[in-house]
Amino acid sequence: MEKLPKALQRIDDELWLTEDERDNLKISYRVKKVLFEEQSPYQHVMVLDTYDFGPMLVLDGVVQTTSIDGHIYNEMISHVPLSMHPNPRDVLIIGGGDCGVAREVCKYDSVRRIDMVEIDELVVKASLLHMPEVSGNLSDPRVNYIFRDGLQFAKEASGEYDVIIVDSSDPVGPAEHLFDLEFYRDLHRALKEDGLLACQSQSPIFHQDVMVRSWDRIGTLFTHRKLYTAVVPTYPGGMWSFTIGSKRPLPDPADVRFDKDTRYCNGDVLRSCFALPAFLKEILDKA
Ligand code: SAM
Repeated sequence: MEKLPKALQRIDDELWLTEDERDNLKISYRVKKVLFEEQSPYQHVMVLDTYDFGPMLVLDGVVQTTSIDGHIYNEMISHVPLSMHPNPRDVLIIGGGDCGVAREVCKYDSVRRIDMVEIDELVVKASLLHMPEVSGNLSDPRVNYIFRDGLQFAKEASGEYDVIIVDSSDPVGPAEHLFDLEFYRDLHRALKEDGLLACQSQSPIFHQDVMVRSWDRIGTLFTHRKLYTAVVPTYPGGMWSFTIGSKRPLPDPADVRFDKDTRYCNGDVLRSCFALPAFLKEILDKA
């Protein structure tokens, strides 16, 4: 009897990944082949080759990134904060195991150090091996791979970073507390006096509670904050939010020069991503 990893089913001899998103929402992908599958001390790690999205990283049955749309998320969570900081030199990434964010940060010559604090070494190994479209076989010497819990690491850092990017999975499992006030407070202390933080703040449609909590908590710590969005097709509902907290006023996106080699983010997107729809403005105004 074929023993399939959880979240995978064989239907009419076809292999399918079904993401159990919510009680009333399930998203299924037809799978060509299981490229990698292993249980780590923290989570179940899979890389699947899919028909429509190519190689796809799946942690505990939840899609993290794919070769088709991973660049949208990775470019937006990195280039927006980095281009809004006058001179980013020291960058901390919490999570980011698929290496896609670090790859984008490497495009900044001003950056001299990239500390990538990822709890699960197996995710990095699987991504470098099976997801070159996302990881870019990252080998830049400025990248320090630190395989530790980001929660602990943040407690020990003080005034060291210009930009901190929290590229975490959903607030479950090892990432459960990466949306807590205490964690954001530790990151606030880890930043230099003119530093800024950017974190993924989930879906404005399906995870409004998480998004508003992050917005509130970052608002209690940072004098300046902004929320922006992007469309990531393999994330539930497609629309995704990111929240920035800054210790100094943020430049007007219209004044930000953008000249990096990218496939999604550009000057127009950088300006328009802060233009929020009415329902979202209403939610944040009420928060
Ligand atoms: N973009 C994806 C998303 O929004 O769902 C996340 C991409 S990245 C793969 C998320 C990474 O966060 C994973 O590699 C996971 O192992 C890592 N992670 C989860 N909890 C962590 C923690 N407490 N400290 C450091 N890394 C953590």
